[in-house]
Amino acid sequence: MSLPPLVEPAEGLTVDEVRRYSRHLIIPDVAMDGQKRLKNAKVLAVGAGGLGSPTLMYLAAAGVGTLGIVEFDTVDESNLQRQIIHGQSDVGRSKAESARDSVLNINPLVNVVLHETRLDTSNVMEIFSQYDLIVDGTDNFATRYLVNDAAVLLGKPYVWGSIYRFDGQASVFWAEHGPCYRCLYPEPPPPGMVPSCAEGGVLGVLCASIASIQTTEAIKVLTGIGDPLVGRLMVYDALEMTYRSIKVRKDPECPLCGKNPSITELIDYEAFCGVVSEEAQLAASGSTILASELKTWLDAGEPIELIDVREPAEWEIVRIPGARLIPKAELPAHLAELPQDRRVVVYCKSGVRSADALATLKGAGFTSAVHVQGGVTAWATQVDKTLPVY
Ligand SMILES: [Zn+2]
Repeated sequence: MSLPPLVEPAEGLTVDEVRRYSRHLIIPDVAMDGQKRLKNAKVLAVGAGGLGSPTLMYLAAAGVGTLGIVEFDTVDESNLQRQIIHGQSDVGRSKAESARDSVLNINPLVNVVLHETRLDTSNVMEIFSQYDLIVDGTDNFATRYLVNDAAVLLGKPYVWGSIYRFDGQASVFWAEHGPCYRCLYPEPPPPGMVPSCAEGGVLGVLCASIASIQTTEAIKVLTGIGDPLVGRLMVYDALEMTYRSIKVRKDPECPLCGKNPSITELIDYEAFCGVVSEEAQLAASGSTILASELKTWLDAGEPIELIDVREPAEWEIVRIPGARLIPKAELPAHLAELPQDRRVVVYCKSGVRSADALATLKGAGFTSAVHVQGGVTAWATQVDKTLPVY
């Protein structure tokens, strides 16, 4: 299905612009008309991370006139393995400012607009309304549904991508012409079921593969060339080195873009996606200790059983001395062998999985069990700073 161009062409190109974009101008399908549309286009990147980095760099190089960047985070050393818009000298800087500097270094003709804020229900409509098209590179479900709902309510197309380890997906959601994200994924996964890249890891270069699909689709939609990924999901497997395109139908019962929508305004996305499960929250209340308290207990020789509920690959990177590894999924099978005469202390990377494990332990009668707030990350940043953070 080909669609008309999203953006009207700009008046004209300057001599400098003709020189810069000559390799586009000589492609008959792009030509002067397409390049003038790119010049007039306003594209918003949600996030300047793994997917946002290559997307912003290529959109800038391609001559998109206005690039918006929503980003509140600062550059961390662990970002540099994949977020190639930032460099070593940017560590500790605002990601938005670092991304802007890289964009302007690639192409000073781009007008860069920074939105240094966390995207939420209070600001998303106002920010999105300033752009023609949105490119979503977020890594959490709450923001993903927020982006989808705001885009549908405003009638804007958006290019979505997601990455995990060696696998990626991408699509164009544009309710006017096809399905939305809710048509494909009506419900978020149960909290804790799908690990994020911070919890499960991602091959750095996978970001480039998926972001290149997103950028290609953005350019196609803006200029009206080719057959955009509307109503199709692209599934990439880096290990098998395969791309598959799967048809996605608009769900007539979709609560957002269907015939009788029940969602007509933004909702509470944190609650919708249940950031930490209720059981875990309940188990953790009054049973959470700080990394510094654990240190005091260990130094005093308190009788505790310290259990690390992360995966073996994470255990190999860093661990708290004296701990024993029982990955969260294997915990139920090991309950019988846990000591009854000592307090069980569980930890994970950040405190989300350990809260889940705590619910399992409490349910099995380990009522004095506690978990460590902030997990091994808190331990490595507050107690033993010689340890690495991943
Ligand atoms: Zn829908």
